[in-house]
Amino acid sequence: MLELQAVSVFYGKIRALAEVSLRVASGEVVALIGGNGAGKTTTLRAISGLLRPRAGRIVFEDREITRWGPERIVRSGLAHCPEGRQVFPEMTVLENLEMGAYARPGGTADRLDRVFTLFPVLRERRGQRAGSLSGGEQQMLAIGRALMSEPRLILFDEPSLGLAPVVVREVARSIRALNEAGATVLLVEQNARLAFTVAHRGYVLENGRIVLEGAIATLAGDERVRQAYLGG
Ligand code: ATP
Repeated sequence: MLELQAVSVFYGKIRALAEVSLRVASGEVVALIGGNGAGKTTTLRAISGLLRPRAGRIVFEDREITRWGPERIVRSGLAHCPEGRQVFPEMTVLENLEMGAYARPGGTADRLDRVFTLFPVLRERRGQRAGSLSGGEQQMLAIGRALMSEPRLILFDEPSLGLAPVVVREVARSIRALNEAGATVLLVEQNARLAFTVAHRGYVLENGRIVLEGAIATLAGDERVRQAYLGG
């Protein structure tokens, strides 16, 4: 469904990604694991058209999207749920969700209903300013907003960052529910714990390079991975 072929991204003279190749098949949850500065966010931004690779190709559902702009990519069925949540704090929950649908208008009421079923707390708080929600609620809103474009593939950038363990479990549950409802997921995480509980396969990124890939059970059993990303 998604394939990166030897993608390299530079910031000026600095190479942030070095020939990164990875695949996500339809129906999978794939994790991209790596430490600070490994290039995880850069990878997602390249896929969603926010950064242009200097070399390599990105293919989504048999179409090359390497040089497409972000709006066209969203319209084609791929959504990006960015790090740090990035909801619009002065807008209400409902307005934030409506923003998520702008690239794919029509049928918004049904989609809203689905998001509210997945996250009932958002229905209760739909008139509240997004900036006044708790961290976990803002994360749910960011996920909900990404869902409003009815994506077939969703990119998640560190959805567990800064959340209490009980909220991380809630986020894990919602990612599983999305996947069971038919969405394919590429999940970026620095802390591998969430990735290990929801992903089928994973890649480990270090210094802009893929250094390891495999079934999630294999990665979870790898001593080096455990040391680096689970704290031993
Ligand atoms: P983190 O988990 O800390 O967010 P990451 O794996 O998402 O890390 P990236 O944000 O993709 O890492 O950054 C990869 C590398 O590119 C880092 O060395 C970073 O300093 C550099 N970088 C990122 N954005 C820019 C930028 N706008 N200009 C210059 N260098 C950048």
